[in-house]
Amino acid sequence: MELLSIVVPCYQEEASVPIFYEAVQAVAGQLPDVAVEYVFVDDGSTDGTLAAIQALAAKDRAVRWLSFSRNFGKEAALYAGMEHAQGDLVAVMDVDLQDPPALLPELLSAIRDGWDCAAVRRVDRKGEPPIRSFFARQFYKLINRMSDTEIVDGARDFRLMTRKMVEAVLSVKEYNRFSKGIFSWVGFRTKWVETPNLPRAAGETKWSFFKLLLYALEGIVAFSTAPLAIASVLGLTLCGVSGVAIVAIIIRELIWRGSAYGWPSLVCIILLIAGIQLFCMGILGQYLSRTYLETKRRPIYILRQEGGGEDER
Ligand code: UDP
Ligand code: MG
Repeated sequence: MELLSIVVPCYQEEASVPIFYEAVQAVAGQLPDVAVEYVFVDDGSTDGTLAAIQALAAKDRAVRWLSFSRNFGKEAALYAGMEHAQGDLVAVMDVDLQDPPALLPELLSAIRDGWDCAAVRRVDRKGEPPIRSFFARQFYKLINRMSDTEIVDGARDFRLMTRKMVEAVLSVKEYNRFSKGIFSWVGFRTKWVETPNLPRAAGETKWSFFKLLLYALEGIVAFSTAPLAIASVLGLTLCGVSGVAIVAIIIRELIWRGSAYGWPSLVCIILLIAGIQLFCMGILGQYLSRTYLETKRRPIYILRQEGGGEDER
């Protein structure tokens, strides 16, 4: 028997936790040759999430849980969960059932076929606001053009990994964790399983449009230095343009004399250049701030409590 750990990040999910557990239990029994353990990670929820998880742990010793001292974000929760998972195989799943447990047997059989990882990608974005879908698509196009690490459009965080791959993911200890990139960056052979988009089982999403935008920026800064190159190229181009303009103005002055008109255009040019300079400084700032945060070497998460599993009995 192999042990399969299911890592579940939960933030304000008191309604989803029991539904999730029942749904996975229904599938877990049918998985051939594996025993299942759950690692629920309460990401500093302020509702009854932890109580809901503890209620499960009280009746099922396969349930273990970690609880953060505050909300550290899903990426930190995934990291903590994987760190505490004891399984030979580790699956990560959202608690809202947007990651259908019914796919677990298919993921498992891919691993049995020799893949290091089986991951799920959704093939549509039904039920999502159209503007969000539009920006999401543009984001994937952009980041894949800028980064050597492939970020798969529609990839969910739902995946089943071998112990080897989990260790590799855990060895990436950066503080700004963009999981979609890290899973891809560590390499290994990943089989993609496709699914339509599913609505949430209960509760609501914690991702506002603004949060998603910041997350997208995070991904770009973490997995590409192309923006820095763009800043340099932009600067060089502008130098070239101004060089040509200087020559043209000197020639005009020599031939026609007294060319003192056009202050509106001058103002426009100054504003443009100032804008570009600020933009490029902003790009620098993004990388600098990430460097600053990484050099502080703060822990990725802080535990307040943990429990469940056999150690309590
Ligand atoms: N989540 C978390 N910490 C957070 C935000 C979300 O652990 O700060 C968990 C959440 O409980 C869920 C998963 O991450 O299990 C995905 O969150 P959500 O469903 O809100 O995101 P969406 O599916 O809308 O992208
Ligand atoms: Mg969700």
